[in-house]
Amino acid sequence: MSKRDFYEILGVDRGASEADIKKAYRKLAIKYHPDKNPDDAEAESRFKEAAEAYEVLSDQQKRAKYDRFGHAGMGGAAGDGAGMNMDDIFSQFGDIFGGAFGGAFGGGGGGGPRRMKGSNLRIKVQLTLEEIAEGVIKKVKVFRLVQAEGVEYDSCRQCGGTGQVRRVTNTILGQMQTASTCPTCGGLGRSVKSKPKDADEHGLRREETVVEIDIPAGVEDGMQLNLRGKGNAAPAGGMAGDLLVQIREVDHEFFTRNSRNLHLDHYVSFVEAALGAQIEIPLLQGKAKIRVEPGTQSGKILRLKGKGLPSVDSYGKGDLLVNLNVWTPQELSAEERDILEKWREAPNFQPDPDPREKGFFERVRDMFS
Ligand SMILES: [Zn+2]
Repeated sequence: MSKRDFYEILGVDRGASEADIKKAYRKLAIKYHPDKNPDDAEAESRFKEAAEAYEVLSDQQKRAKYDRFGHAGMGGAAGDGAGMNMDDIFSQFGDIFGGAFGGAFGGGGGGGPRRMKGSNLRIKVQLTLEEIAEGVIKKVKVFRLVQAEGVEYDSCRQCGGTGQVRRVTNTILGQMQTASTCPTCGGLGRSVKSKPKDADEHGLRREETVVEIDIPAGVEDGMQLNLRGKGNAAPAGGMAGDLLVQIREVDHEFFTRNSRNLHLDHYVSFVEAALGAQIEIPLLQGKAKIRVEPGTQSGKILRLKGKGLPSVDSYGKGDLLVNLNVWTPQELSAEERDILEKWREAPNFQPDPDPREKGFFERVRDMFS
């Protein structure tokens, strides 16, 4: 696909002034902002495209180069509009939404109005072990502050847009000048001139948005994912806050988790334990057939390599440990009782003199085999 012309993207003509370009970009940035267009890939690519066009056309040198050589003059990196990431774009916003709206910052550089960061949002996400095993994309509704459309700003009258007020006091040492944060605008250097009804005093609006959270496989209960810039928008075009996602693991019907390993308690009949059997056990995905050896004791642990969970920060998978228990029948028919009574005194049916000991070593051996 060929790259669109930067002027065309912003909808301005070739002779457009810096102010026109800024204005055009601001409009597009608000229209295609990801906060307002969740899950809209088209809007996202428009958003990035506009940012890239603005990045070039707002810089006199880059613009001159582009005018002469077109996209070819922009160096190898330019190609698919992926040259800028979202962080770059959002950090550009200080310039766009601060400078252009406030209007009176002059000169730029140090001592300017304060850039605030939006506040963080915290949410919890519940995950099943199945989801944790594979990783999952969760769509979560979040109420967060976003920049409202149609807000107009004025430079703060008290501080003239600098965000600071100076006071001169006469002391015995002469005149002293002190600077402090402007009480009217809180240091932002601007105030809201007009805004839609639903916007707050900073021109922000609380909006329900759907956030897609890409959760990697292997996360654990209590872990926190930090999604930069997905929290509340900041007043005056500062960086948005973060969305802090806390992982909650839902208890599983069959499995308990120990880090990367899964445990399963499974019962076999004492006939199966004595004769041996092929049994079927559940896995997180599907089922597995495993062999129970003749003469298996209750408490034996079978290890299924690699059938546990992946680790979030390394390769390889944990194991599934199947704890075999022998089920003792709780009710017996007369016929069953007769059969069992016959074997009560049989030598092979007598427990090992020290079964606990043997069971223990057997288990340890199994663990390392
Ligand atoms: Zn002020």
